[in-house]
Amino acid sequence: MNTPSKVWFTPLKDKQSSETTALAALKLAEAAGLKALAGHGRLVGILQHVGEGRNIGHIKPAITRALAAKLTALKAKPFLTGSATLYKGRRSNAVDHMMQAYEHGFTPEAIGCPIIMSDGLRGGDRIAVKVPRAKHCRTAYLGSAVGMMDSLLVVSHPTGHIAAGFGATIKNVSMGLADRGGKMAMHFGGHPIFNAAKCTACGRCAQWCPVDAIVIGKKATLTQAKCIGCGQCLSMCAFDAIGFEWGTNSEVFQERLVEYCAAVKERIGERILYLNICQQFTPECDCFDLLQKPVCPDIGILASYDPVAIDKATIDLLNQAAGRDLVQEIGKRGYEALFAHAEKIGLGSRAYQLKTI
Ligand code: SF4
Ligand code: SF4
Repeated sequence: MNTPSKVWFTPLKDKQSSETTALAALKLAEAAGLKALAGHGRLVGILQHVGEGRNIGHIKPAITRALAAKLTALKAKPFLTGSATLYKGRRSNAVDHMMQAYEHGFTPEAIGCPIIMSDGLRGGDRIAVKVPRAKHCRTAYLGSAVGMMDSLLVVSHPTGHIAAGFGATIKNVSMGLADRGGKMAMHFGGHPIFNAAKCTACGRCAQWCPVDAIVIGKKATLTQAKCIGCGQCLSMCAFDAIGFEWGTNSEVFQERLVEYCAAVKERIGERILYLNICQQFTPECDCFDLLQKPVCPDIGILASYDPVAIDKATIDLLNQAAGRDLVQEIGKRGYEALFAHAEKIGLGSRAYQLKTI
């Protein structure tokens, strides 16, 4: 039995304003020791999903503002961060991502800190991190800023998830800070797929491929044996002619998420605080360009230094509130593989002590 990790919890009534939520999040973060992340001149990343298109369930700018202001008052230099998505959408490069953030109210004036994408202009600026005890991803590829930041405040919105079944802290850290190649490795560990019908043979993908795996004839063709799965070609094609298959077994996907989350911890160390803002629990994550209805009343906010304990406590509280295994029902996948693998590789503990504030 692992030693129980501390999880701080503040219950919130349903449908609180973002200002009330921000005050509660700040109080909880301070109780959990937000101060430990700060210090003179420390660059502190605030990892937060800004929402895709019509999504309104994402965590609101007022919460970022409250946390950033406190970090600034503690002499740190906070910045909002994230990374390019693998799929084509409103956040698949840094320019689109930042414009999407601004449209959702995350302007530097509103949140009191700049936005700096962790993985550069097109999602390919990366560092390689060895993951001890990994089964699938012995080397993880993370946005290069992860290698330079001093501390990390992870602010996650728990939801269902199309591939993992459930997404909160572990999913936010792994997908939120992996570069495009890292995301490919987690989703399917394979190669891109070229659609000849859409290809104009412009040659941009071949020009940017770091290992010359693409040959341009009448159409682009891939030499799979050379491809290292970095994903760079996906971001270069302006004709939507390069894609990938999402398909991987959900348990394997959960284990890969765990390994990428472990890579971030391996690189940054102990100065990572996790918050789960458990409001608007929707069937799909905030990457969906959709208006989604919550499937249970709001729960409150959780904080921990253990990414495993906070996600387990979040699932327990959601299920308690619903009176059934709502998370399993919504995600249609179990979460045993996620937690078992996380404990096996030493990412954290499912056992926790809940301290209600
Ligand atoms: S960038 Fe796209 S359109 Fe251009 S050659 Fe490559 S696959 Fe074809
Ligand atoms: S994924 Fe990377 S290595 Fe593979 S073809 Fe595309 S650019 Fe080249």
